[in-house]
Amino acid sequence: MTSHLNADLHCHSTVSDGTLAPEELAARAKANGVELWALTDHDEVGVQARAAAAARALGLDYLTGVEISVSFLHQTVHIVGLGFDADNAQLKLGLQQTRGGRGQRALEMSGQLAKVGIEGAYAGALKFAGNPALISRTHFARFLVESGVCRETHEVFRKYLTEGKPGFVEHRWASLKNAVSWITQAGGIAIIAHPARYKFSSNEEFALFSEFKGHGGGGVEVVTGSHTPAEYISYADTAREFGLAASRGSDFHSPDESHTELGTLPALPEGLTPVWELLADHIQPALH
Ligand code: AMP
Ligand code: MN
Ligand code: MN
Ligand code: MN
Repeated sequence: MTSHLNADLHCHSTVSDGTLAPEELAARAKANGVELWALTDHDEVGVQARAAAAARALGLDYLTGVEISVSFLHQTVHIVGLGFDADNAQLKLGLQQTRGGRGQRALEMSGQLAKVGIEGAYAGALKFAGNPALISRTHFARFLVESGVCRETHEVFRKYLTEGKPGFVEHRWASLKNAVSWITQAGGIAIIAHPARYKFSSNEEFALFSEFKGHGGGGVEVVTGSHTPAEYISYADTAREFGLAASRGSDFHSPDESHTELGTLPALPEGLTPVWELLADHIQPALH
């Protein structure tokens, strides 16, 4: 397999904060020419068997996936896991603990939004959550668009849901060490998701990559929906510097909200080890 394989190894279904069911995503990936696919819902692996079955029946190769929320230096960092055993008990327990605080956080967010005149946000967000255990800021954003407070979800994040804004509630997610070890002890590879999105200084970013590597992390998303072409180049350099494999994924959430469609990203830059080469034995092959 080459770095030009159309692999899309990052997207979300209604099980977390996407708007399409796993089967709809599999069909969309297939229609867009994806050859190897992974569904990476936030903090949940409960529909991996469903996603794999849908993908394989459509002629797609499949890797198990997840995106774990981690707290690192007072920011939220996302760690994608690929190619693990989705029935692994320690992984499932860790994810259950990580999901645990979301309900309380959502109530606090709703309380803060009420103070700036936005009533009923908890119930409103819950209506958009396909899986109440995974109620997220994205569901609040959809409610605020539906109720006319903002025109689109990015505007909601900018005005209400990011640090320093009225609806933002600080949250303690998993540790970097635990997230990496849940993935690796379940047989998968841990990957730093969309590194250009964090607001770290260069020293802090160096600490993230070195600690990640020290805990057994294996890859970095180089080509992802929120990176610019210049960031593909700079994180290709980071991958080489830290001896990490490279991943590629759209981070598709919704036909109405996502900038990047499934399967439409450019290829990885040359001279990198694609993460799917290291996971060749973990791929669940297409049925025909
Ligand atoms: P949560 O896990 O509840 O903190 O929500 C995080 C999710 O919000 C991410 O996975 C993205 O899907 C979404 N998100 C974060 N920042 C933005 C943004 N600026 N615009 C749109 N969506 C965002
Ligand atoms: Mn998301
Ligand atoms: Mn993410
Ligand atoms: Mn994501």
